[in-house]
Amino acid sequence: MAVENMKRILVEAQKGHYAVGAFNIVDYNSMRAVVSAAEETSAPVIVQTSVKTVKFWGAEAIVAWLNQIAKESPVSVALHLDHCKEVDFCRKCIDAGWSSVMIDASSLPFEENLAATKRVVEMAEAVAVSVEAEMGEIGGVEEDIVVADEDAHLADPKKVLAFCREVELACFAPAIGTAHGVYKGEPKLDFERLETIAKQTGVPIALHGGTGLADDVFRKGISLGCAKINISTQIKYAFIDGFVDYHNENKVYEPLKPLGAQLERIKKEVKEKIELFGSAGKA
Ligand SMILES: [Zn+2]
Repeated sequence: MAVENMKRILVEAQKGHYAVGAFNIVDYNSMRAVVSAAEETSAPVIVQTSVKTVKFWGAEAIVAWLNQIAKESPVSVALHLDHCKEVDFCRKCIDAGWSSVMIDASSLPFEENLAATKRVVEMAEAVAVSVEAEMGEIGGVEEDIVVADEDAHLADPKKVLAFCREVELACFAPAIGTAHGVYKGEPKLDFERLETIAKQTGVPIALHGGTGLADDVFRKGISLGCAKINISTQIKYAFIDGFVDYHNENKVYEPLKPLGAQLERIKKEVKEKIELFGSAGKA
């Protein structure tokens, strides 16, 4: 199938009370692992790229890989740009073939965040591309930008509602207590805030900072309205460890062998998340 608009995938998830995994890939092999995992579980999936990854490989290469993989795949696959701070870079990816982008102007005041989001929604709508926006500040490290714990703040439900009335979004990422990277202590999610925001806006909610959350935290988040769950750090670990562990055990200088082990490691972990999120069998 062709690469799909993310909105349709998330509306289905919202209706069916499950969540679709959005997995951050870093190259062709990790992309192939994520889509293979979705195929083996018959699940819709979101292939997600950081701005850094797009700059590393070039937008055209990434789109070409996924077009090739998705064309031969029976499952629904969306290509989503994660945490993009610049409207112009969103435009570049929309033009190149992304089916969804996240404009993250959450560090700006409300009006400026809304204005930047509106600009992206306008250009995206014209070509049937979907948009995610964020409010509040999710802590941790993303794209080399560090949000210190004392600077992370949660999204105000009243402001989120006002924001979502102004723009048509495929999903919304309110800061509710999760963080990017590896959790140092037990993460404290504000489920009440999540529930209020999901109910009031009716917009599918994106849960960021999924790596390291307990299974029942995911289940509860999904039951309250999370329809997109981001998994990035866990994929980075599987990517490196899958390759390095194979090499340490076998010491064979045949690159395709550790690459195969890397693919299998990522695929296994993505499949586990897909099962947990309830999206298996929903492709
Ligand atoms: Zn994030």
